[in-house]
Amino acid sequence: MDDDQAIARAAAALRAGRLVILPTETVYGLAADASNARAVAAVYEAKGRPAFNPLIAHVADLATAQRIARFDERALRLAKRFWPGPLTLVLPVADPAAVCDLARAGLDTVAVRAPGHPMAHTLLEAFGGPLVAPSANRSGRPSPTRFLDAIEETGEAAEAALDGGDCRIGLESTVVALLDEPRLLRPGAVIRGEIELLVGPLADADLDAQRSPGRLTRHYAPNLPVRLNALTPLRREAFLAFGTSPPRDHVWNLSPSGDLAEAAANLFAYLRAADRSGAAGIAVAPIPDEGLGEAINDRLRRAAGFVG
Ligand code: AMP
Ligand code: MG
Repeated sequence: MDDDQAIARAAAALRAGRLVILPTETVYGLAADASNARAVAAVYEAKGRPAFNPLIAHVADLATAQRIARFDERALRLAKRFWPGPLTLVLPVADPAAVCDLARAGLDTVAVRAPGHPMAHTLLEAFGGPLVAPSANRSGRPSPTRFLDAIEETGEAAEAALDGGDCRIGLESTVVALLDEPRLLRPGAVIRGEIELLVGPLADADLDAQRSPGRLTRHYAPNLPVRLNALTPLRREAFLAFGTSPPRDHVWNLSPSGDLAEAAANLFAYLRAADRSGAAGIAVAPIPDEGLGEAINDRLRRAAGFVG
């Protein structure tokens, strides 16, 4: 079966209310028709995700997004600059039926994004409406950035699965709320500084955790305990290095050259590999907290159980 046939079958499955594993440039998603409450309920169930944690509506383009959400001038500026791409906007809802109550966790706001992966885009066009597509992991676990990791996590719940190769970015989208002042709900693949150039300073999510309920739980966590800012691993620990690595077993180097984009792309796959290595724990080298490092460190703190 070629890609076009696979996408046509996936679109048909979605129309029938079934779930589909789909690649995006950020991580693999578990997709469903955003307007179909039963299909959306099946996503929450497959992930074991609490229903108070709302889902992102994925759309093919800005025109579709504008039917779902109310865009002000700031939102338009950001969408035009970063879409298709890894930026999610939380906006007032325009059509509450297009993204059902359950997907919005009953809020009168909606999160929207137009993904940049060609397969995701083609599927969204073939389907013709918004799809929820949270990361295809079971709730609380590291996001899948490779096809087989997605299958291992939630493949059983999906009617179809599209293989789009390894995710180019490997970190979830940045989530920005434009309800009053611009607010960074989740650091992600688009870095803070690029957004601030267009809409001014971003307020912090922590001041208003209610706006992004999903931020309150432990997340992105492997089974083994995770120890951060480790300069060297202990004897039975696996080690995620950054830059120079010690010459020993069970070391995965996120980026030998110290490149944050490369580290982001490797992060979840290496956490999974270290988790399977038979070590007693996972130590992680310090990652600079600038640019993409803000999102990497956010995920690492959550993986280690420090919820901020
Ligand atoms: P995920 O689907 O795991 O990538 O997470 C989506 C993120 O967007 C979570 O942090 C949600 O809490 C957040 N989110 C989705 N919809 C809304 C909304 N209407 N208001 C605030 N945050 C939202
Ligand atoms: Mg997720």
